[in-house]
Formats: sequence, structure tokens, C-alpha cells
Amino acid sequence: MSYLKMKKSLGQNFLKDEFYISKIIESFNMRESDVFLEIGPGGGALTTRIVKHVKKLYAVEIDQRLIENLFDKVKNENFILFNEDFLKFDLEKNIAEENIKIVGNLPYHVTSPIIFKVMELASEVNKNSKKIESLTIMVQKEVAERIVASINTKDYGILSIFTRFFCEPEILFDIPPEAFFPKPKVISSIIRFNFSVGNENLNKVKDMKFFRTLVKTTFLNRRKMLRNTLKNFTDDLESIKSVEITKRPENLSVNDFINLSNELFNK
Ligand code: SAM
Repeated sequence: MSYLKMKKSLGQNFLKDEFYISKIIESFNMRESDVFLEIGPGGGALTTRIVKHVKKLYAVEIDQRLIENLFDKVKNENFILFNEDFLKFDLEKNIAEENIKIVGNLPYHVTSPIIFKVMELASEVNKNSKKIESLTIMVQKEVAERIVASINTKDYGILSIFTRFFCEPEILFDIPPEAFFPKPKVISSIIRFNFSVGNENLNKVKDMKFFRTLVKTTFLNRRKMLRNTLKNFTDDLESIKSVEITKRPENLSVNDFINLSNELFNK
């Protein structure tokens, strides 16, 4: 496909710099027995290299115009390509294997929903089996920094708490705009989420939906003390024991939010 026809709306900035492509490929730590899933293979910059090193590579690409070219370029019987929106993709139904490693250079406009989808899938399906082992993706540097932000900092927020609820993410390295065509306006970072360590938080939380609402509602007013925002959840603020209500949401750890959510859910 001609670069002129690339769709901005689908976040199509394709990797072109060999140095960074190799660096990203190395960061995937591939083994011959691995099953990989790539989100948004695009022009195949990563795809053609991954497929050579793993047992099986699944890929999900939304843009129908790229599909034929991808098949031609990859030409490998261990490559299975779905022309679908990853946000609607049924991973359980379409992929039988376990210990899948998910990778991708994500379109910036759908970064958060894609991360949340994988987090939830990983925690729910991993309860029964070790379905998803890790997620290694390229995101906007600012987003990566918000994800790994420490408590009591201005970057610490919904994204940090929701991702930290499921695992300990780490930023591996940055990638400059020059590594892509067309050149994006922002710096990117490779970030890894490792789900191989068991997650106890899902068992600790009484009601996941309530937990999510609580985190979102308090951070809508991140400068306000909890005693202002918690009015939406209880009339009896003074009886709250799990946290001090003079704190702000950015002062609460994931554990504090879990305890607060469990306490308020019963009220
Ligand atoms: N992986 C390629 C690379 O690094 O050169 C392409 C990266 S480009 C930033 C993002 C790719 O994701 C595009 O090919 C785009 O069409 C695809 N994409 C966008 N939204 C998607 C979605 N919801 N599901 C699957 N693929 C999507």
C-alpha cells in the first residue's frame, strides 16, 4: 500500500528504522516454543521477524487493505491473520494455546482500551489457566510514564492504578519519532506487563465494577480531598476507617483503593 494512503484515523505510523526494529524484536525474548499474538501488524515490520523465531504467530489487523500484502510478505504456515478490530476480537474462542505473549505497536487513539482489555482478559482467563503470559507494547512515552508513575506524583492516576492492580509494568526503552513513517509528533516507549506472577487482587476485591467506579470518580476530582468525592458513596463519611478522608486520590495505593472499595461497597 502506498504510504500516501495511510490512515491517520487508524494510528498508522509504521516502523522503518532497522536499529529500533531489531531492538524491539530482541526485547520480545522469543523462544522456539512461543505462541505470539501481534496487535496491528500494519506493513509487517515486526511480523516478518517474529514469525521466524516462534512456533506460531497470530495477528489481528483492522485495516482490510493491508491484509493481502501481509500474507504475501509473511508467507509462513505458522502465521494466522485475523482481519478484525482487536477490541472486538474473541481471544478465548480464536486462540486455543496457553502462555500467549501479546505484542504490538499500538495506535495511540486506542491504547488505553486495548491495555484495559488485555488486563481484564489476562486476569479473568488466567484464573483458570495461564492463558496470557505478557503484553509488550509500544505506547506514547507520556502514557508509559503515567502507567508506571509512583504514588503521590502528578502522573499517578486511573491508568497507574488499573494496570498496577493486575501486574508490575516496566518501561524498557524509548523510540524517537524518526524511527517511523510518517513521523509521529511524540516519543514512544516500549512497556512490558508480565502476568506470569499470580494476581491476588481480583480475589481481594468484593466488587470489581464498584472498585472501577470508585477509582474513576475520585480521580475526576484529583485535587479534591476524598471527603468531598466520597459523598457520592456514603452519607456517613466520619465512619470510614480504611483511609483518611483528608487525603487526595493520588495519595492512595492500589491496596488502599481495594480496602476503601470493600468498605464502601458494604455501606
Ligand atoms: N506494527 C506496524 C509497525 O510497527 O510498523 C504498524 C503499527 S501502526 C502504529 C498501528 C497498526 O494497528 C495499523 O496497522 C492499524 O491499521 C492497526 N490498528 C488500528 N486500530 C486497530 C484495532 N482496533 N485493532 C487491530 N488493529 C488496529
